Amino acid sequence: MKNKSYKLAKLERNRYSVFHDGKKCYLCNSEYQLTWDEIFKGRNRKNSMQYGFCIRLCLTCHRRINEDYDYINYWQKKSQEYFETHYGSRDDFLSIFYKNYL
Ligand SMILES: [Zn+2]
Repeated sequence: MKNKSYKLAKLERNRYSVFHDGKKCYLCNSEYQLTWDEIFKGRNRKNSMQYGFCIRLCLTCHRRINEDYDYINYWQKKSQEYFETHYGSRDDFLSIFYKNYL
C-alpha cells in the first residue's frame, strides 16, 4: 500500500484480455509461469488494464516479445480498432490514450 494506490492494485489484480480468455500463454499455450503483458505501457498502462488490452504470456514468451516492436505495434493497432468498435469513437480513444496508432 505504500507506493501503490488502492485503485491501481485493484486494476492489476483484475487484469483481463478482450482478445482471449487469459488462461494460457497466448503465443505458446503454456500454462506455466504466466504473467500479464499490458499492450500500452507508461502512462497508458492503467488504461490498458482498464479496457482489457492485456495479453497473457508465459515468462519465456514475455521476455521474447519485450522489445519486439512488430509484435507491440500489431497489438496497439488491434487494441485501437477494438476500442473504436466496442467502446467509442477515435476522438474518445485519443482523449484517453493521447495517440493514434492507426
Ligand atoms: Zn509462451
